[in-house]
Amino acid sequence: MSSGSLEVVACIIQPYFDAVKHTFANFSPDGVSNLSKLTRVGFLIEPAVHNTPRHFAACREDGGLLVFAPEIVDLPEESVTAMLAHEFGHAADFSYPGNWVTSDDPTKAAIWIGSRSDKQAMRWRKFWMGRNTDQQEMAADAIVKAVTGKTVGYCGSLQIQCFTGKPRPVGLR
Ligand SMILES: [Zn+2]
Repeated sequence: MSSGSLEVVACIIQPYFDAVKHTFANFSPDGVSNLSKLTRVGFLIEPAVHNTPRHFAACREDGGLLVFAPEIVDLPEESVTAMLAHEFGHAADFSYPGNWVTSDDPTKAAIWIGSRSDKQAMRWRKFWMGRNTDQQEMAADAIVKAVTGKTVGYCGSLQIQCFTGKPRPVGLR
């Protein structure tokens, strides 16, 4: 794919990205503050992201950048939105390290503890540091639930994000 067509992909994705980012950045987890760090999240279109048939998107580990494969524009609109929401779930998790408490059930909304420093919060933060991949993936969807009220589902033979379908299966990569 030429860089010209990557620019076209970026133009197509931009309004979806902006809408989901706006929803997340303006969400108030405690009724006082918002998730203002997410206003700085950007995105890139990067063909290397599509390294398996079901990989269309990724989030950098500092939560500041989302990366999309150009093939994302071939997905249904609902999946693009659900996928963006999932990636912003990661961004909200990584941008506010240990500030959300989640369980292994991604249909349960994440609970915001912010920068609380009591014993229980410190125990949670220790757990947060040692989470495995599945726990991080479930956390992203639990944060989507907290922010949007929607449950991320996984649809079709490729198990792509959607807003119907079953919650994320353990072990999905
Ligand atoms: Zn993910």
